[in-house]
Amino acid sequence: MSVSQELFQQAARVIPGGVNSPVRACKSVQCEPLFIASAQGSRLTTEDGREMIDFVMSWGPMLLGHNHPEVATAIAAAAAKGTSFGAPCRLEVELAQAVVDAVPGIDMVRMVNSGTEATMSALRLARGYTGRNGVIKFHGGYHGHADSFLASAGSGVATQSIPGTPGVPEDVVRHTHLAHYNDLEAVRRIFETCGDVAAVIVEPVAGNMGLVPPAPGFLEGLRALTREHGALLIFDEVITGFRVSFGGAQAAFGIEPDLTCLGKIIGGGLPVGAYGGRREIMEKIAPSGTVYQAGTLSGNPLAMAAGLATLRLLAGQDYAGLAARTEVFSLELENILRGKGLPVWRNQIASLFTIFFTEMPVTDFPSAQKGDARLFASFYRQMRERGVYLAPSGFECAFTSFVHSEQDLERALDAARAARF
Ligand code: PMP
Repeated sequence: MSVSQELFQQAARVIPGGVNSPVRACKSVQCEPLFIASAQGSRLTTEDGREMIDFVMSWGPMLLGHNHPEVATAIAAAAAKGTSFGAPCRLEVELAQAVVDAVPGIDMVRMVNSGTEATMSALRLARGYTGRNGVIKFHGGYHGHADSFLASAGSGVATQSIPGTPGVPEDVVRHTHLAHYNDLEAVRRIFETCGDVAAVIVEPVAGNMGLVPPAPGFLEGLRALTREHGALLIFDEVITGFRVSFGGAQAAFGIEPDLTCLGKIIGGGLPVGAYGGRREIMEKIAPSGTVYQAGTLSGNPLAMAAGLATLRLLAGQDYAGLAARTEVFSLELENILRGKGLPVWRNQIASLFTIFFTEMPVTDFPSAQKGDARLFASFYRQMRERGVYLAPSGFECAFTSFVHSEQDLERALDAARAARF
């Protein structure tokens, strides 16, 4: 038995399903998880001593690569001064300023500890600000695991086919209205029949049904409809923030939402989320306003140091170059798989892509669900056997980073060339 298998057995006795986040269990690809001992650059080393080329990158945060020396030094320097104060510190002001400077729609920002907290708090703020209860979300959109968002969610909820989830009161999700991604007319119909919509929440580039880009005019249409109906537009940029461009998807597409949710990259690999937006809305949060939201560890100095070092390094990076490398790489991967007679559809933006095992265009959750799960599982297992670490679900993105070398990408392509179906 491998060390990973031994650890998984031990884990399953004391942790539900043996994991602290469901997708990690690798159930839908009929595998057991690999336990990771360490990570450096584009590589993971498993507890069994295998080195893998990583295309998950902690689900997005590690855009600079694992254990970047300057980020590691910043964390160590902060740790030497104390790990938590529960009081204001200089680093949280500096990170807030860096976020405000970078993201067009953010005048003020509040730090929290995860993407889930960011979206949950942004929705509470939107409700408090508008005095309405409803929220429009999209099928296959994932916004963390707060109750309101667990209706037709993507990511692990989609992978495991959990219909919503037990434990969420119907009274809560009856305020959640669903539309299909890229279907503006559906959003318009909801607004016309329901006067109670506080906000539309959307991943400006969907990443949790696999990667699905916004159709031309979709984000513009959401901006116009929310304005027309007095609702807020919330961009969930937990994946896309500082990745689709330094200023996020909103900078890339030139659309300013009222509120923005961030996570992943702004924590540089430590647990951080944030939500920010227009000053007059953000000032409604306690203690300047009455909408309550708090956190013992929020603004934690280690997390702030990691985030700040990460953003400072990212500001000088060649995003266009990485996007171009990712396009060439994912296109070659598509061609290799198509050459084997497989049905494939590829979506890619910046350093994100998904290969869907279907020939039909993937523009929303139903079309993403047409992907052949059996083919995906076989592809996943064969790539893993050859040292390439992909997300263990067809409803996720692959992530590249600034440190994936030509040699890494070529090795991954060789693994795909060797696969048999
Ligand atoms: N929003 C989006 C778009 C996400 O992708 C995620 C997590 N993958 C979340 C919110 C939730 O973030 P977290 O897992 O940090 O709670």
